[in-house]
Amino acid sequence: MGLREDAAELDASDPLAGLRSAFLLPPGKIYLDGNSLGPPAHRVLERLDAVARGEWGGDLIASWNCHRWIDLPRRAAAKIARLINAAPDEVLVADSTSVNLFKLIAAALAMNPGRRTILSERGNFPSDLYIAEGVASLIGARLKIAHTDALEAALDDGVALLVLSHVDYRTGRLHDIDGMTRLAQARGALVLWDLAHSVGAMEIDVTRAKADFAVGCGYKYLNGGPGAPAFLYVPARHQDKARQPLQGWFGHGAQFAFEERYRPAAGIARFQCGTPPILSLAALDAALELWDGVALAEVRRKSLRLTELFMRAVDEYCAGAGLRLLTPRIGDRRGSHVSYAAPEDGYAVMQALIARGVVGDFRAPDILRFGFAPLYLTHAETVEAAAILGEVLQSRAWDRPEYRARAHVT
Ligand SMILES: *Cc1c(COP(=O)(O)O)cnc(C)c1O
Repeated sequence: MGLREDAAELDASDPLAGLRSAFLLPPGKIYLDGNSLGPPAHRVLERLDAVARGEWGGDLIASWNCHRWIDLPRRAAAKIARLINAAPDEVLVADSTSVNLFKLIAAALAMNPGRRTILSERGNFPSDLYIAEGVASLIGARLKIAHTDALEAALDDGVALLVLSHVDYRTGRLHDIDGMTRLAQARGALVLWDLAHSVGAMEIDVTRAKADFAVGCGYKYLNGGPGAPAFLYVPARHQDKARQPLQGWFGHGAQFAFEERYRPAAGIARFQCGTPPILSLAALDAALELWDGVALAEVRRKSLRLTELFMRAVDEYCAGAGLRLLTPRIGDRRGSHVSYAAPEDGYAVMQALIARGVVGDFRAPDILRFGFAPLYLTHAETVEAAAILGEVLQSRAWDRPEYRARAHVT
């Protein structure tokens, strides 16, 4: 059967199809960038209006108590906890992924005294590496960056902490969280996982994996909105030993006693720093309500169907165009995006695609990246996107000056 017929059949039997109408999606666009910025759900826009006009505008500062703004970070965290199989009080929503990395890397190094190396891998997201480098230089540790295949050999008795991203932001390659955590811990290292490109796209079980720490992003597959607060995970067994250096008043044991000296709060609350951004947090909290009753196994199945279908469609429509697949074909080894190295000016190819309503993104030096968010994408869109990519490449429609001019955000 043809690709379009297959797609129609898969859409007709898609158990998640009903969720698409929960989102505000502009007509005429196939949005394959939800792994970078998820779209708004209708309920998020309603909640923003209610919180801004009704709560902020109506009750002003009393809202911290009467609308329980003060525990919104914990309430949002409980919803994320379900998505990664953590206990509700092992997750906190706060700050950005980068800032949470800083807090947890510093805490982890202090918990593994005598070891002074942070190990990560080449190709990890730059912010993760930059933050690790910054913490290392602040406390006299060092950052070692190994090739993925050499991580095991690099896990020597100097490694205090292994910091990895679950899904590679460029290639989409998926790490085995359980296996890698076990290996690193057997060598005496702690392990911190960055779940930015996996949470909301698949089942994650930090409890089964016995992960030491994790962080993740609120604005990608969780659809919390641009710059949405991120989250962090610290298991109960570590919480009272872990001390993070951004000792703000929100992490104090008695915030409103206004004591002169810092005493960390018990439990996960000590990982807060300052005042949470309530509007952003309310948007994220409303977006997280969409996951009520959604089976993550179903989300993963659809994600694999979409990415598989896209690769098949690109094989067919883009044959001979010189694209090189960077993403593993084997389902167990990939996340929810698919990337190709472009033969010529990938930036211009992506601009030409965007001009035709297919929104993916470009990652230097030559990568065309397409994200597949299972909550709102259809199989038909997936095939259509590949057909338009084929057209752009075969006709060289990308080869125009206006598509070559680089914008700041790619
Ligand atoms: C998106 C992403 C981030 C983003 O960090 P911010 O602090 O939100 O800018 C960090 N790490 C990884 C792996 C990401 O994919």
